[in-house]
Amino acid sequence: MLNNRPPQGAYVRRWSEFKWLPGALEALRLLNQSGYRVAIVSNQAGIGRGLMTETDLQDIHTRMSAEAEAAGGRIEQIYYCPHDWNHGCECRKPKPGMLFQAQRELNLDLSRTMFFGDDERDGEAADNAGCVFVRVSEEKSLIESVRDLLRTQTAEGMEHHAKANIDNRP
Ligand SMILES: [Zn+2]
Repeated sequence: MLNNRPPQGAYVRRWSEFKWLPGALEALRLLNQSGYRVAIVSNQAGIGRGLMTETDLQDIHTRMSAEAEAAGGRIEQIYYCPHDWNHGCECRKPKPGMLFQAQRELNLDLSRTMFFGDDERDGEAADNAGCVFVRVSEEKSLIESVRDLLRTQTAEGMEHHAKANIDNRP
């Protein structure tokens, strides 16, 4: 949702395979400038399946965060589930484990947290955690959704926490 999805069954395993989607950095900048806090919640079963290491993923996260900051955005925290889908863990979306972890660590009010996602599991995770889900798709990209949100916010004088989501596993 922030980056191009690799083909089914493939993973973004190194920075050279990571490609921001058009408007993604701009969306992060607008959210930051508007006072929203951004965290990322992603399933990374490629680690559990032995296709990449946590070091590989952390390198990608470090570079993502640096590029976001260079563009005026800020990623406060990145949560990921490293487990294989057979593992039965509590963190892999659609389970809400990572969202509850973010709630505890970032002191979020989940009922006022927006979860932007492009996957059914994102929507289910948001429901399971009591977040507001914003569906992002090819027809309506993250940047369009963020612009809509900020227009609404301006109109209503509302204040929300935002949660962006990245899922580089299909
Ligand atoms: Zn997990």
